[in-house]
Amino acid sequence: LFAAVELAPRDPILGLTEQFNADTRSNKVNLGVGVYYNDEGKIPLLGAVRKAELARIEAAAARGYLPIEGIVAYNQLVQKLLLGADSPLIAEGRALTAQSLGGTGALKVGADFLKRLLPGAKVAISNPSWENHRALFEGAGFEVVNYPYYDAATHGVDFDGMLAALRSYPANTVVVLHACCHNPTGVDLTVDQWHQVVAAVKETGLVPFLDIAYQGFGDGIDADAAAVRLFADANLTFLISSSFSKSFSLYGERVGALTLVAANREESARVLSQLKRVIRTNYSNPPTHGGTVVAHVLGQPELRAEWETELAGMRDRIRDMRKALVQKLKDRGVERNFDFVLKQRGMFSYSGLTADQVDRLREEHAVYAIGTGRICVAALNSRNIDAVADGIAAVLK
Ligand code: PMP
Repeated sequence: LFAAVELAPRDPILGLTEQFNADTRSNKVNLGVGVYYNDEGKIPLLGAVRKAELARIEAAAARGYLPIEGIVAYNQLVQKLLLGADSPLIAEGRALTAQSLGGTGALKVGADFLKRLLPGAKVAISNPSWENHRALFEGAGFEVVNYPYYDAATHGVDFDGMLAALRSYPANTVVVLHACCHNPTGVDLTVDQWHQVVAAVKETGLVPFLDIAYQGFGDGIDADAAAVRLFADANLTFLISSSFSKSFSLYGERVGALTLVAANREESARVLSQLKRVIRTNYSNPPTHGGTVVAHVLGQPELRAEWETELAGMRDRIRDMRKALVQKLKDRGVERNFDFVLKQRGMFSYSGLTADQVDRLREEHAVYAIGTGRICVAALNSRNIDAVADGIAAVLK
């Protein structure tokens, strides 16, 4: 049965981490990851999370199955975080949410559901995009195309190209949009550009699927949801995948959500009933721990305030690292202007380094980055940043 099975290619990012782990140099730095590390180089366990976990252990609750769509209170809190606590869509019963296995699980359930509704549709993702978007939607049976996004010449967005592509697609094309903190580039649309995207989506009859995996890592919880809320205000029907992996530093607990906005309460009930069938035949129902912890934190004003402070701390530290890197490159006499790094948002930066420079960085300086030049700014810290700046300055000479 398995004799003819071919070896699949290694995941490019996880493969790099394997190579990093095998590297015996003591000064090695891994900027290839997609995880936030604190200044000690550790994945933080947030204080608010710790308290919610202790409360959970104390409560010694039985571990029965959750409903197919997950914890009701969690799903309601997710909607408020995404759409705003006063969202009329929530009051009107138009939003429906299913707890998911991370943002990836939300995308997969959403993709499977869309495939049933729109079997012939194509899916458009940004060029470039999170490397799993294409594989995930192709895996769900869709043909995936790219819309222009990153403009290497300006370190910005090729917005005219993006808009023209969106307008050229047939109605019902699914368009995956990074709501904030674009992965891998760190380059986001302005609010004014989002207005134009919403208009184009509406006129063309596209199906927006907003992916928000870094809410709170850009400018703040509400500011980062600006795009989601513009779509909500536009009276469109759309999908949102969201994740607490980063914002709660709960990567391995797989805590995310799929939220759909339907035309009215009755439609929303029908859609949820179908979504539950997709989930039931996939993993039946989500796990209890992460969702319980997040709901506990979001639902208790004191813990929520603590979480918001901790989230702001992660956001500010990333910004500080952006500033420090740019300054340290200037201090080392690097002539190239890296100020674009300050404008980028979230964990990542398309640094503008070429694949050759990335190779030299790894081989000669033990600094690991992705071949596209993507670096994880959230993996820089006060101890490794000088070595990274030294390495970049050297490969640019
Ligand atoms: N979407 C994007 C854009 C991401 O960067 C990621 C995580 N790297 C995800 C979705 C998936 O998130 P999760 O780890 O919660 O599955």
